Amino acid sequence: MTPDLPAPRRFGLAASKLHRAAPDGGLLTWARQSASAIRQTELRLHAVGGAYATLSRSAELGGYEGLVPYPSGGDGGLMRLVSHIAGGVDAGQSLDGIVYLIDPVDPSSLYPEALALKRQCVTHGKPFVSTVAGAIEWMAVEAVHAGRADPGHAALLDLTGRHLALIAHDALKDRMVDFAAEHFDLLCRAGSRVATGTTGQRLNELAWSRGWPPATPWVRRCLSGPLGGDAQIAELVLDQRCEKVLFFEDPHVARQHEADIQLLDRAVCSVSRHASCANSPAMARRWAQAVAQVTPA
Ligand code: PGA
Repeated sequence: MTPDLPAPRRFGLAASKLHRAAPDGGLLTWARQSASAIRQTELRLHAVGGAYATLSRSAELGGYEGLVPYPSGGDGGLMRLVSHIAGGVDAGQSLDGIVYLIDPVDPSSLYPEALALKRQCVTHGKPFVSTVAGAIEWMAVEAVHAGRADPGHAALLDLTGRHLALIAHDALKDRMVDFAAEHFDLLCRAGSRVATGTTGQRLNELAWSRGWPPATPWVRRCLSGPLGGDAQIAELVLDQRCEKVLFFEDPHVARQHEADIQLLDRAVCSVSRHASCANSPAMARRWAQAVAQVTPA
């Protein structure tokens, strides 16, 4: 290990069949774009069956010593990742995040272990990266935090002109306002901002209190999430009019609009090479800190 680097982070890795099948599939596209960041940060990739097989045969990451095989999905590989995100049962098993390239029309994307994997990441504030665009971007985030930023990472993280969505469940609305206050200037760089109804109201009030012109909304407000706002934002994502969703989810309550929440997740995965989502305040903060560091105002 290089002495001046922090301890390598450990990520779980899985990919739906669609993403791991073809040479131009999502998994190898990511490997091509991100292999140097992965190697520079010495990121450990604990890869479930098929994803391991594809990467271990690839030009980009074949022979990479940080690539660790896990059993295939059918043999419990994904289930083990869930446990390890929560800390595992034995010392040294804990993982720091997940890259799971999801094909939303593959039924395995709705298996309990797939849903639990995201839920445990949200619960423990660990990144859950579900798209090709998100995985490429997140390797840049990891590189910046490891002190390995380069101009390519800065370009990947540049927010200028990008379109953001901001959503927070009730128990996390204060956290969203705090996040927006902390990163206000950075979020102002986005090409546009959209939010669900109640979250949007809170964010506009924050912006007006910070001197944003009173007659101008800082975020465009959709309907409230349970009344269809999540679905409206999903449509913007599908139309590629929104490429980054910051969704502060509450994993600890029953959500009457669970279907809408999953619909939005699936919309993001439908445009995997274009969009990404951060599902927790911790994930959003880690992203924003990296963006601020490499693209100063
Ligand atoms: P809200 O919607 O911002 O209107 O509360 C968020 C949600 O619950 O999806």
